[in-house]
Amino acid sequence: METGIRDIPDYPSPGILFKDITPLLADPALFAKAVDALAAAHRPGSGAEVDVVAGVEARGFIFGAGVALALGVGFVPIRKKGKLPYATVSAEYTLEYGTAVIEVHEDAVRPGQRVLLLDDVLATGGTAEAAAGLLEQVGAEVVALSFLVELGFLGGRDRLAGRQVNSLLHY
Ligand code: IMP
Repeated sequence: METGIRDIPDYPSPGILFKDITPLLADPALFAKAVDALAAAHRPGSGAEVDVVAGVEARGFIFGAGVALALGVGFVPIRKKGKLPYATVSAEYTLEYGTAVIEVHEDAVRPGQRVLLLDDVLATGGTAEAAAGLLEQVGAEVVALSFLVELGFLGGRDRLAGRQVNSLLHY
């Protein structure tokens, strides 16, 4: 089956096999299918409807924005440190390769709003754990975390134990 995802060895550092999603983005049928499948669990009547979709910079923006439009809800960007113009809350976390700080606007959601968090790849789960924590800090109820790709051997799902985790493609 054509997935539109290719393996790039030794990127961004030796020993890492990077999943490159750009061929999927370049294929309109595959891109539409991916967005539709990510949105499916949260359609009206699903019982898992959301008020907002949040996405993590940068590739989470691409899928998050698509899913938000597909569901007819707004989009909240979670960005790397220093990129958001208004007052923020921030979280530092460890990645598969290094550490990072992400931020969200403190008024990004209204208290109790139901949020779907989107990213392209679930690896160790550090980014998603930090992003979900940020959304909760600003008052959101994080309904689910959805990913195009899950790298199962890195154990991200275990790190996110107790949360609803969905992914379309497993490696
Ligand atoms: P984690 O925090 O270790 O789960 O890493 C997930 C974050 O790193 C996501 O924001 C991904 O976009 C990025 N990432 C990690 N591994 C890959 C990969 O193989 N391909 C694309 N992005 C990746």
